Formats: sequence, structure tokens, C-alpha cells
Amino acid sequence: MQEPEKFDMEKTICPHCGSRMLKWRVPPDSTWGVPYQYVCFNDECEYFIKHWKYMLENYRQRASFRHRYNPFNGETGPLPVWSFSAMKSSIIKDEESA
Ligand SMILES: [Zn+2]
Repeated sequence: MQEPEKFDMEKTICPHCGSRMLKWRVPPDSTWGVPYQYVCFNDECEYFIKHWKYMLENYRQRASFRHRYNPFNGETGPLPVWSFSAMKSSIIKDEESA
């Protein structure tokens, strides 16, 4: 598979917890218009835990954000999730690292 133009290996490491981020298949109904992005799926990631508490305390919502990196335009940002397991079914298994 050809890597996207803005791919930066360093950005596939989560800046909040140091975990290797996983390729995540973008839902077909999203507006991103790219096939996949990188997402930190570490449930102990500081960013995820912090926002989980924040949403609960400030909005009484059980939801949070995971750190996301779009290698097609170089942008990083939040991916909203509503549970620990949300979005995990779209993780792309990396055959090359097996
Ligand atoms: Zn992380």
C-alpha cells in the first residue's frame, strides 16, 4: 500500500501517551473523504482519560476523545467516542507488522 503524501512516522506515535497509533478505517458516511487515519486506542491514554472526566463533569455525558492523525493532510485532532470500545471495530490490522 502506498503511504499518503503527508505521512510522518513520528506523528503515528501518540504525543499524549507514547503509544503506537493504529490505522483506523474512516466510516463511509463521514465527511473526511480519506480511507483511513491513525488513532490512539490506548484506554489509559492521558488525553482519552482526561476528556472522559471532562465531558462527564461539564456536560454529564459519557463520551470522550481519542487523539487522531490524518496522514493525508498532516492534521491532528480529536476523534469523538462514546465508549471505551467505540470505533475499535474499524481498526485495520497491519499485515506487514505481523
Ligand atoms: Zn495516546
